[in-house]
Amino acid sequence: MNKLNQTENSFSIDEIVNPIHIMKFGGSCLHDAESFKQIKLITELYASDCKIYVSSALHGITELLIKTSKFASENKPHDVSELIKIIETRHSNLIEALFEGKLKARNEAQKRLQEILLNLLTVLEDIKEFGITPYFTDYIMSFGEKLSNFLLSSYLSNENYYVVSFIGEDLIITNDRFNDALPNLCHTKKRIKERLLPLLYQNFRSPIICITGFIGRNKIGYTTTLGRGGSDFSATIIARCLHDLNPNLEIKVSLWKDVDGILTSNPNYVSSPQLIPELTYQEAKEMAYIGAKVLHPKCLEIIEKQNIPIEIKNFNFPNQKEYTQISQKSSSNNIKGLNVVENLELISISSPTLINVPGFLGKVFSLLGKHGININMISQSCSQIGISFAIEQFHLEQTLQLLTADKNLPSEWISISHQPVGIIAIIGNDIFLPESIMNIYASIAQLGISPISIAKNDKGMNLSIALPESSLQQTVNLINDSFVSSEENFIQIKSKQ
Ligand code: ASP
Ligand code: MG
Repeated sequence: MNKLNQTENSFSIDEIVNPIHIMKFGGSCLHDAESFKQIKLITELYASDCKIYVSSALHGITELLIKTSKFASENKPHDVSELIKIIETRHSNLIEALFEGKLKARNEAQKRLQEILLNLLTVLEDIKEFGITPYFTDYIMSFGEKLSNFLLSSYLSNENYYVVSFIGEDLIITNDRFNDALPNLCHTKKRIKERLLPLLYQNFRSPIICITGFIGRNKIGYTTTLGRGGSDFSATIIARCLHDLNPNLEIKVSLWKDVDGILTSNPNYVSSPQLIPELTYQEAKEMAYIGAKVLHPKCLEIIEKQNIPIEIKNFNFPNQKEYTQISQKSSSNNIKGLNVVENLELISISSPTLINVPGFLGKVFSLLGKHGININMISQSCSQIGISFAIEQFHLEQTLQLLTADKNLPSEWISISHQPVGIIAIIGNDIFLPESIMNIYASIAQLGISPISIAKNDKGMNLSIALPESSLQQTVNLINDSFVSSEENFIQIKSKQ
């Protein structure tokens, strides 16, 4: 039971008795009327929790909106109307199915849909006139979440739930980085304190709060988005702000997805991946950054120190006992999962003249950084004679050109070579445990392959091995099978992923 500080809040005598449960419904779950009925079922399952729902756009709508704005900027009115028609039909059909037999609610929802679409058309007209800018892209994309949030809140209200709905701009203040904005926690907290928190303190009947995922606004008021898949981030931003407002609140975040949770490996590579039931924030971040693609990469950072737990659950099987929980707790220190990064090129620079030349690496990396070339993995031998780093293959030509032409690098003294590689990133709290490391090398040795380059992060959390591309699939399967079979904590996946 929690109390707010009496001096700070006028509603301090009331109490939030129940856990605050922030649930994010991803676009991969939101297809049709059945999806909304599933949300109703989940609502019943968590009847006693204080519920905050963060919803993504309906499946595929964000992509359609991006395409529509592109067509508008290219002055292709026919293509624009075709896509608008698809967006309209998807939502309108959903309204018909959700409000069947409820004429008044149906008419109101159809009317509101038309208002929102009219607004969308006005913005598309602007894009046609002024061209597409990052601001316009964000504004256009925000319509997807605005539509789904309006439908979800109308549907739940009509099912006799008490619902209060917000758009992201009401609550989340961000910096000015359109398409990939970061929240300003101080200003966001202020809004959550003033607008959202009081709703949770209503003694008898706290509402279901429905909020658009993915969007916020900058200080001036322009709509911003938090990066693709950003609704996860919206959920954790809200969790973090509520926690800061009252650290005694019991808060948990559930991300409902179309998968059972985070798997040991990508099913596209591995025939028998298993579900990882528990991950630490650090482990989960390593998995997410490299491509587990189940989580928005930034969503964990802001709740890690506060130890707010996140569950990743299968929307289609809400009663299923198996899921992934991310918290400070971990079932073991062994290997938890692995990821594959493809289409990379390993650049190696070597020369004895590099010994004791401080700043050489700095020159190389700032040169590439200035040209927007990202580096995926680095290793340097302690002799300092050679360094290797991986870049995306499509940057190869440009990288070679930059390295050979730059006047600050002693090009006549260095030799540069390159080869295509893929990287296997092996993740676990302590992958240098003897058993783990032996399994990894045994798997690689079994195939008669030798790693081309190796790097690890400081915590022994991620061991990255560059291998010839042709041996990736086999190696990943062998390593996956070896650690999955030596560890009883993994769970056989039930549903088709
Ligand atoms: N609708 C947005 C996207 O597709 C945000 C999200 O789904 O979380 O990226
Ligand atoms: Mg989406």
